[in-house]
Amino acid sequence: MSAKPIDRTPSAYAYPLLIKNLLRNPVRQFPEQEIVYGDFKRQTYRDLGERVGRLASGLAKLGVKPGDTVAVMDWDSHRYLECFFAVPMLGAVLHTVNIRLSPEQILYTINHAEDDVILVNTEFLPILEAIRDRIEPVKQFVLLNDTGQAPATALDITTEYEALLATGDPDYRFPDFPEDTRATTFYTTGTTGLPKGVYFSHRQLVMHTFSVLAAVAGTGQGRFNREDVYLPITPMFHVHAWGIPYVATTLGVKQVYPGRYVPEHLLTLIQRENVTFSHCVPTILQMLLASPKVNEVDLSRWKVIIGGSALPRALAKQARDRGVDVFTAYGMSETCPILTFAQLKPHMLGWDEERQLDIRCKTGLPVPLVELRVVDEEMNDLPHDGKTPGEVVVRAPWLTQGYLKDPRNSETLWRGGYLHTGDIGVIDEEGYLKITDRLKDVIKTGGEWVSSLELEDLILKHPAVAEAAVVGIPDPKWGERPLALVVLKHDQADQINEAAIRDWLKDFADKGILSKWGVPDQVLFVESIPKTSVGKLDKKVIRGQYDEKSKA
Ligand code: AMP
Repeated sequence: MSAKPIDRTPSAYAYPLLIKNLLRNPVRQFPEQEIVYGDFKRQTYRDLGERVGRLASGLAKLGVKPGDTVAVMDWDSHRYLECFFAVPMLGAVLHTVNIRLSPEQILYTINHAEDDVILVNTEFLPILEAIRDRIEPVKQFVLLNDTGQAPATALDITTEYEALLATGDPDYRFPDFPEDTRATTFYTTGTTGLPKGVYFSHRQLVMHTFSVLAAVAGTGQGRFNREDVYLPITPMFHVHAWGIPYVATTLGVKQVYPGRYVPEHLLTLIQRENVTFSHCVPTILQMLLASPKVNEVDLSRWKVIIGGSALPRALAKQARDRGVDVFTAYGMSETCPILTFAQLKPHMLGWDEERQLDIRCKTGLPVPLVELRVVDEEMNDLPHDGKTPGEVVVRAPWLTQGYLKDPRNSETLWRGGYLHTGDIGVIDEEGYLKITDRLKDVIKTGGEWVSSLELEDLILKHPAVAEAAVVGIPDPKWGERPLALVVLKHDQADQINEAAIRDWLKDFADKGILSKWGVPDQVLFVESIPKTSVGKLDKKVIRGQYDEKSKA
């Protein structure tokens, strides 16, 4: 017997999982709930509902149609939250531009995503001015301005955000369309080669929201609920701030958007607004705990998810000493992003602090609906013994179905019907994953990627260099920093020093080709570089050698 589809009454409404359906109830049920933007603005959920209508209809008046792409270049703000809803609800695609990429990479992403309108904060005008001539035509620019003064700019600004909203309709009626409609897109540099676009549908974002909600529901360790006050500290341009603004809005909690990340200001907001729930990369937590201001702030009600890189035990301990409920999450741009949370199981709540720290610093348990496997090269499952490593592969309803306009890399990502994370991990008897290594040849520093291959190419362009290899080595502040090993040409050995190679790279950073944190702090001149049997740079051996040295 074959499976039978359900019968549908002709008048029955086939409810699509659309982002607009996340917004309706919180706006009605918590109209007075607050949304704060740093020191600039306080508004309510009622305002959010109205402004989302105004923004969508304002954009429609500018000519934005379903299927068009609207890009945003802003700090984390109430405006960004409005875009998270209004742009996809219109049937358009929201492109969250990573403003930390080099100007050349930003240009590439804007053209590749085929942005039709770009909403740009005054502070990022110089980036666009520098690349304006090479942005492909038919772009309109909308200014996001906190200064109250019109900036002098060579860019042809169509209108200003608040003026656009003033022309819009607060009661705009959002259409229905298929739930598989593309809602968002953004670019990852966490792979080798050019930035790659990932994309998510309405259904995927709704499913992600509900699965995360299910994982954090209730009270107690690692939970997020209606009484919480939410402050995101992972940028909204990066995987929709891990999708948690959608979760927070669905819950109807007070939300605080911090603008640019300045540790003292973040701590002031945590204190002033009674923030209880956040998420950030380890480097940010480290900066907050190192700020002298931390001694003036009570963090004992603060829950914080750490992701993007492993949570170092020493940092977790430091946070726990201040009463912070700190725990790890894991995911990637390609996975929307949440795959796991390292929450304690009920029977672990009675464990002593040291054993609990072990769990908080694991990579975590898959959230509902995620199928996560650790496999060998033939895709066989490896034992859940906490020590047999393999690649992490996943399935979930919200994984990018490919890279934008890039079928070849999409197929590689999805080979065998599972999304390949490029991470190596082990699963223990309790089902917790722990990431132990990485297959991809990239370095994560302060939450941002640097491509080793790109750095090697640039170093090899130096006329005195014969060979180069770049690896990431552990760094207490940034997680990892690039280390360059260089073999000089014989006749050049006496004439070139470390500073010359760094200056050579800084020049590429000044030209916008390399991000400024891509310049290695250390360049080591060596006689030879370890290679594999087939003559490739043996990054595993190099990392092993220099990890040990950096620990010594
Ligand atoms: P991105 O696409 O920039 O969000 O980076 C995703 C990658 O960051 C993953 O594939 C991992 O390599 C790394 N990553 C994210 N979260 C963790 C974590 N909790 N522990 C270790 N590595 C992580």
